[in-house]
Amino acid sequence: DNQFQSSSTIAAIVTPVGGPPGAVGIVRLSGDKAVEVAGRVFRSAKRRRRKEEEESDCSEDSWRPRSHFVEYGVVVDSKGSVVDECHGSEVCLRRVLRACVDAGARLAEPGEFTLRAFLNGRLDLTQAENGGFSSLVKSLRAQCIELLTEIEARLDFDDEMPPLDTDLVISKINKMSEDVESALDTANYDKLLQTGLQVAIIGRPNVGKSSLLNAWSKSERAIVTEVAGTTRDVVEARVERSETAAKLADVIIMAVNAVEGWTEEDTELLHKIQSDKPMILVMNKIDSATPDTCEQLEDKKEEAFHRSVFTSAVTGQGIEELEEAILEILGLDRVPSGGHQWTVNQRQCEQLVRTKEALERLREAIKDELPIDFWTIELREAALALAQISGQDVSEEVLSSIFAKFCIGK
Ligand code: GDP
Ligand code: ZN
Repeated sequence: DNQFQSSSTIAAIVTPVGGPPGAVGIVRLSGDKAVEVAGRVFRSAKRRRRKEEEESDCSEDSWRPRSHFVEYGVVVDSKGSVVDECHGSEVCLRRVLRACVDAGARLAEPGEFTLRAFLNGRLDLTQAENGGFSSLVKSLRAQCIELLTEIEARLDFDDEMPPLDTDLVISKINKMSEDVESALDTANYDKLLQTGLQVAIIGRPNVGKSSLLNAWSKSERAIVTEVAGTTRDVVEARVERSETAAKLADVIIMAVNAVEGWTEEDTELLHKIQSDKPMILVMNKIDSATPDTCEQLEDKKEEAFHRSVFTSAVTGQGIEELEEAILEILGLDRVPSGGHQWTVNQRQCEQLVRTKEALERLREAIKDELPIDFWTIELREAALALAQISGQDVSEEVLSSIFAKFCIGK
């Protein structure tokens, strides 16, 4: 993020270190020169390939990071050597951090990112921008207060007012709930961009897990940053490892061999992982399967899986469909294309959830014909939550919890 105008550009490792290596490591940059520093340490794989094809050493390296794009490539240190591509290992992360510092960043102080993010958020919110998150929140809050006023007027001057049109009230609440939901969808999408999506591919030996992964990573739209438990030793040698992979995943893909159909071993594996995570059945090797085994698998999918896809790692059939299934299952397909002009932080997200829940209770209260005093309680709660997001009414409690967070973590 480079919104905050500061005199220095800071860098830090923001994924956990010290424990077992994570699947992905993240080094974060913030400040005026963040883009420049990233440009200096990063070499895009695409660009390298193109360069090789052209066989010409074209001018200066002019790679610039593009907003909201994920790019694959390598990090080079100040001597131009490539920092090994070893994902979340601490050694690797420290070398990347070092490279950023050599390229002009300085190490972030504890809490500095949080501070900047907060200040960024505040700056954003004070600019009454066109169509952004802050105007959405302000508009929601205004709707809450308008409704609250109408209802409270009934409390005070019941005799002089026409009766409340409950249907109209409900439809207003529904509209507000929709807006809150769409803001939360964007927040989820944000989380994906920040942390990546963990997908575990599990399955018996030789069903084609590695081949699928390989076919997948070649696809243009690959959304998977790291796939847990995909190597032979992790998944195939010891089943308890596939349980671990499944526990850490956002989505579990269980691959089976469509040539052989569903087997006893598949049943055992399915029992072992016992997860309430979204599960997708991938019936691989469709290129060589017979209609019989396919039909048998079709029956199987109803029992334990949210979705199922026929694939061929060889021809690439079904790979795109699999990606779509994942996005759909996580509700990420609902993010409007071309949308996402704003980011939602954890604190704002919590308040959105609080708003959503208050609106749900409000709907219940109306349905159960509770006295309208109860309605106003929920509306006030929603308005308060929204006010905390927009910073119109940041209570001391919120501020102190934010500052408490400065002292710990990033
Ligand atoms: P893993 O043990 O589950 O990772 O399976 P591999 O990816 O190593 O694949 C096992 C074998 O199946 C290899 O010989 C692959 O070439 C083959 N294979 C994988 N996917 C397909 C597919 O979709 N169609 C066909 N015909 N063969 C496949
Ligand atoms: Zn494999």
